[in-house]
Amino acid sequence: MEPELEHALRRTPSWSSLGGSEHQEMSFLEQENSSSWPSPAVTSSSERIRGKRRAKASRWTRQKAVEEGEPPGQGEGPQSMPAAESTGLEATFPKATPLAQADPAGVGTPPIEWDCLPSDCTASAAGSSTDDVELATEFPATEAWECELEGLVEEKPAPCLSPQAPFPKLGWDDELRKPGAQIYMRFMQEHTCYDAMATSSKLVIFDTMLEIKKAFFALVANGVRAAPLWDSKKQSFVGMLTITDFILVLHRYYRSPLVQIYEIEQHKIETWREIYLQGCFKPLVSISPNDSLFEAVYTLIKNRIHRLPVLDPVSGNVLHILTHKRLLKFLHIFGSLLPRPSFLYRTIQDLGIGTFRDLAVVLETAPILTALDIFVDRRVSALPVVNECGQVVGLYSRFDVIHLAAQQTYNHLDVSVGEALRQRTLCLEGVLSCQPHESLGEVIDRIAREQVHRLVLVDETQHLLGVVSLSDILQALVLSPAGIDALGA
Ligand code: ADP
Ligand code: ADP
Ligand code: AMP
Repeated sequence: MEPELEHALRRTPSWSSLGGSEHQEMSFLEQENSSSWPSPAVTSSSERIRGKRRAKASRWTRQKAVEEGEPPGQGEGPQSMPAAESTGLEATFPKATPLAQADPAGVGTPPIEWDCLPSDCTASAAGSSTDDVELATEFPATEAWECELEGLVEEKPAPCLSPQAPFPKLGWDDELRKPGAQIYMRFMQEHTCYDAMATSSKLVIFDTMLEIKKAFFALVANGVRAAPLWDSKKQSFVGMLTITDFILVLHRYYRSPLVQIYEIEQHKIETWREIYLQGCFKPLVSISPNDSLFEAVYTLIKNRIHRLPVLDPVSGNVLHILTHKRLLKFLHIFGSLLPRPSFLYRTIQDLGIGTFRDLAVVLETAPILTALDIFVDRRVSALPVVNECGQVVGLYSRFDVIHLAAQQTYNHLDVSVGEALRQRTLCLEGVLSCQPHESLGEVIDRIAREQVHRLVLVDETQHLLGVVSLSDILQALVLSPAGIDALGA
């Protein structure tokens, strides 16, 4: 990473101690794509760097400005100002670029520097990267998984835990009328996706002819959460493969521990997509490096996705994959150089930021299969795990499901969620939570520091009150001040 930015980050106290000792040498910009799987191996791509230069060449200036204590975007001259900022928001923001609309002449085969896994590659070939060592530490094969078959738990309906009096959003509406309420909205409008991209990071791409089992193993082996899908017939990127897709495959084809999931062994990504999409065209949702971060937030939330590829508008190549986490980190680092708005001092209870009713939860004794059903039915990214008394004892996120691929235990979905959490190694212990009396600023600091996608809102007896997710925070800080409700839409 550039020395200037590293220096700037070191000077920002809340970002200097990310992720514990094993992470300290990695800046947030380098950790992003595999944040909970420490995989510092980096593939740098000259093609990608060229793309970035084409997109914008002011990064050094910007970082120098940051080092000198000047917020990015100030004093850089007109070239750094995005097209979006001067125009009406309604007219500008919903402009995610399906690749189909990009210059077709520019879309060639993926550059050879990428870790593109062709259809005939084997899982062992994918796993032969230098990340194998880290993989072994992150996902040790646990025999206990296999032993769990006997202790099958009875599935029980999840208790209704929603509070009777949901948090009002009145406090937030008040805040939106105050001067300064738009500070983060403007900041995100004034900065581009290019500004938040890593200077180098690992990018894994799958050919749609790759078998799905190999693809999911390759996600694990490479320590990434998602991969763009390359269709060599169409010569374009056609979608993403994420952990949600792994969940969808298991949800659809799993029958019992005694029946092998034939489809996961046999299907190619293309076959799965044909079956799953049933002929309806779902284009890749992407964004240009020149688009604003405001647009990126809008696009992620509006499309209810968690991975937004940044495509070079000229070559059509994927330059980076943006996520809510990265966007919040960017805002958190550089936002700390801006005047602190008053709403950061108000409590979560006052502001009503998050979801407080109709919460999707799972009992710790329920089988993983139940959790997968809820993920699919409710489309939530994580489930607070509760005990019989309704107290929160853990959190099971979509991300955790990839352990089933890592440990090759996806045929044992009758293991309890509680047991799955106990098996989770090197990850977070317990649950990261917040309480209603805590300020929004404290919540944001914690969520950014812990590098998680949400905090669970609990009372002092650990009973569930809500979920405060990055989607809620970005919606509130960036979109609500523009009068946009992409989350509720
Ligand atoms: P996860 O939280 O598991 O990473 P997402 O919420 O991003 O998954 O993905 C939800 C669904 O949307 C998945 O089927 C995934 O393939 C699809 N998807 C994710 N990102 C994109 C994208 N940029 N364009 C099109 N489809 C996407
Ligand atoms: P992603 O980067 O895919 O959004 P998540 O933040 O959902 O990943 O999850 C990463 C890891 O952190 C998972 O093991 C998940 O269970 C854990 N995790 C996420 N949020 C919490 C939380 N609030 N409390 C405890 N663990 C959490
Ligand atoms: P996410 O998928 O976490 O980005 O969040 C999208 C929306 O779903 C946000 O408004 C969250 O508050 C909400 N949400 C997240 N998890 C849950 C859950 N377990 N139950 C109900 N809503 C949730």
